[in-house]
Amino acid sequence: MTHPAQPKASHFINGEYVEDTAGTPIPVIYAATGEQIATVYAATPAIVEQALSTAKAAQKEWAKMTGTERGRILRRAADIMRERNHELSVLETYDTGKPLQETLVADATSGADALEYFGGLAASLTGEHIPLGEDWVYTKREALGLCVGIGAWNYPTQIACWKGAPALACGNSMVFKPSETTPLCALKVAEILIEAGAPAGIYNVVQGMGEVGASLVTDPRVDKVSLTGSVPTGKKVYAAAAEGMKHVTMELGGKSPLIIFDDADIDNAVGGAINGNFYSSGQVCSNGTRVFVQKGIKEKFLARLAERTGNAILGDPMDEATSFGPMVTENQMNIVLGYIEKGKAEGARLICGGARADMDGYYIQPTVFADVTDEMTIAREEIFGPVMSVLDFDTEEEVVARANDTEFGLSAGVFTKDFTRAHRVIGNLEAGSCFINSYNDAPVEAPFGGVKASGVGRENSKEAIKHFSQVKSVYVRMGDVEAAF
Ligand code: NAD
Repeated sequence: MTHPAQPKASHFINGEYVEDTAGTPIPVIYAATGEQIATVYAATPAIVEQALSTAKAAQKEWAKMTGTERGRILRRAADIMRERNHELSVLETYDTGKPLQETLVADATSGADALEYFGGLAASLTGEHIPLGEDWVYTKREALGLCVGIGAWNYPTQIACWKGAPALACGNSMVFKPSETTPLCALKVAEILIEAGAPAGIYNVVQGMGEVGASLVTDPRVDKVSLTGSVPTGKKVYAAAAEGMKHVTMELGGKSPLIIFDDADIDNAVGGAINGNFYSSGQVCSNGTRVFVQKGIKEKFLARLAERTGNAILGDPMDEATSFGPMVTENQMNIVLGYIEKGKAEGARLICGGARADMDGYYIQPTVFADVTDEMTIAREEIFGPVMSVLDFDTEEEVVARANDTEFGLSAGVFTKDFTRAHRVIGNLEAGSCFINSYNDAPVEAPFGGVKASGVGRENSKEAIKHFSQVKSVYVRMGDVEAAF
């Protein structure tokens, strides 16, 4: 019997599901059991061509609609997503293995927020009037054209909407390639946009591995590429986009610092560290995986952290009581287990976890290492799994320098009751998305993105509009033209 997660077909182009079984089969594995629940096929060159030509043709008419009309469609899509939240969340749980407790509140809902927010902004995307005596300049905010979105596997619905909603609000069309690990959810986003009244062809989904992504990025018809992925992939995609002078948004990895001063409320700080390391089983780019704790509260912090981490409920992701799910794939599980072994071998002190959980599926116990030092591999490399490194520090000056000593710069957090210090420390940290006495909040109203190797551009908020549109300026002369000859 066909599993309910099996989509009608692999791709969604020009308003309908499209199949081409000549592409490489991509098995969809449910991470909680290891069972294959669906198959999709990587896009063949013919499918890529169909998606790009469709999106190119549809864009001009879409951009000619008023912002109010475009916005209405996006807001309708947001309403449909919210009405179908349960069904979409179940699908996302099948796609990623993340517990339903999370997917019900953090994926389709956050996708719907983006559709609603950018739907609301669409009608207000105007230019300026610049008076120059009798003459004047006016500016127009125009669409970029055809945009490509490429997703990571941790938030497949959210990423499809965080890219699609601002792109469409500005009058662009999109071809979106989900991660090959989680190909299911973006198809639903495409389906819902059509149901909401979007013209066929403005949001298309094609499946495939990196090579399909690369063929989209290098196509001369593509004007912009927005990638969510790792730094090595980001470097390749950025370079390929530069060849064609294309616009880019790069949302990449991190190894973010979370700094806890000795005056902090311990339970709030522990809560922040848990949210910043164990949500989605640690598969979150902005995670605060280097937790710097001031020496005076170190043992108290570790004791409370171990106690609360022990309350995580590992189990069937479809059971809403489960608060901690498996790694997305067996491969990712093995990568993370390799880092745990490195942590042990390099002399970090294991506080809790430290092994695969004794159950079916790709579960790793939430793991905390203490006495981690700056040079250890687990303190330097992005693990993308439930492994928290706790490091000690003495002074503010020291911790800021150590926090910044990384190629990454996605996020940073600070816990302290001293607000002057909180703002000073955040001001000195090299990171794009920061938190004071909190961690990992990502409201659509706030810009999201990194500095240094963690990325270029911003998603969400009014900032995203700048990255999906361009300004045309028009000089208007009222009098005669003077010329030298
Ligand atoms: P990945 O870099 O392996 O893949 C990301 C996407 O890029 C996939 O869809 C993949 O098929 C595609 N891709 C790979 N090579 C390509 C190429 N040469 N050209 C075009 N596309 C190509 O990342 P992943 O393992 O799916 O996701 C985990 C990474 O993503 C982590 O580093 C994480 O930090 C990062 N991430 C960042 C954010 C953010 O918003 N900053 C959010 C989620 C995940």
